[in-house]
Amino acid sequence: MLLHDASEARPDGWLGALRAVLPQADITVWQAGLPSDCEVALVWNPPQQLFDEQPQLRLIFNLGAGVDQLLALRLPPHAKVLRLQDAGMAVQMAEYVCHALIRWYRELDRYGAQQAQGQWLRHPLQPRADFTVGLLGLGVLGQRVARAVQAFEFPLAGWSRTPRQLDGMRCFAGAAGLDAFLATTRMLVCLLPLTPQTRGLLNHERLSRLPRGSYLINIARGALVVEDALRALLDSGHIAGAALDVMAEEPLPAGHWMWTHPRVVLTPHISGMTRRDAAAAQVAQALQAHAAGAPLPGQVDLARGY
Ligand code: NDP
Repeated sequence: MLLHDASEARPDGWLGALRAVLPQADITVWQAGLPSDCEVALVWNPPQQLFDEQPQLRLIFNLGAGVDQLLALRLPPHAKVLRLQDAGMAVQMAEYVCHALIRWYRELDRYGAQQAQGQWLRHPLQPRADFTVGLLGLGVLGQRVARAVQAFEFPLAGWSRTPRQLDGMRCFAGAAGLDAFLATTRMLVCLLPLTPQTRGLLNHERLSRLPRGSYLINIARGALVVEDALRALLDSGHIAGAALDVMAEEPLPAGHWMWTHPRVVLTPHISGMTRRDAAAAQVAQALQAHAAGAPLPGQVDLARGY
């Protein structure tokens, strides 16, 4: 099989993890201009050239959960696309979300500012019932985050494409359910895939439907949010704070307003980092299923885009 991870100068980490679970596998590190007869490719952010030179590929395994960059390329016509599911990321997403929620709900930045002033001043606890957490996306990651949030007893709402029923959560679905979902949400957590339907979903009109003083956590993809709209709503205080792990342009350019906006906390796309051992185990499982003609775990629906 062919291996290419654009984020790694040296593939040693992947090779070690893959050989631990697939000791017999013939793994070729992709090099531009070198044809191969591999039918399986393991990729992260590959160039178009890889697929132009490997039309024989039948199985493309995306070494991450989001396939938006991969599906923007022209893929070999008969290839199936698989993606990672969780692979150690879900618990990290849950940590990230709970940290941001609690920081805002318990006003920890306010107490931090007071400490800097040497001020011993206690404020009343905000009613938890006013802090409904709304999860955009109830897939593998969204459901894990929901479990973590439930442990802190925040009211919970969720939005998905198809209707779902999940314990302890008010569930909304589809375009018809979005406005009501937003109106009920105080802390919005974005865990949607980036598809033609979701790109720019969080525009000025939709973000304005959140109650005044709401918060946004985006740990999915930057292009889900119209950033100028977010800036305007942060400036006006309609959105009281945003925790952003992803941006439309990454790395975030120097001088970008997000670096210094007082209501933004940002991180460089680290909310969910793939664990190589877990990812390699999923690759091995998928190859087994493929060989047996069984359903492929994590197969992407190309028409739907996730
Ligand atoms: P899943 O495919 O398991 O879940 C996606 C969820 O989004 C589903 O609930 C789905 O609805 C919902 N959804 C998709 N399209 C729409 C739509 N048009 N309207 C309403 N709901 C929609 O994905 P994961 O949970 O595994 O991952 C989510 C995303 O998180 C990834 O696509 C990736 O972009 C991002 N990510 C970011 C990381 C980071 O480090 N920042 C790390 C890992 C992932 P339904 O249930 O009906 O199918």
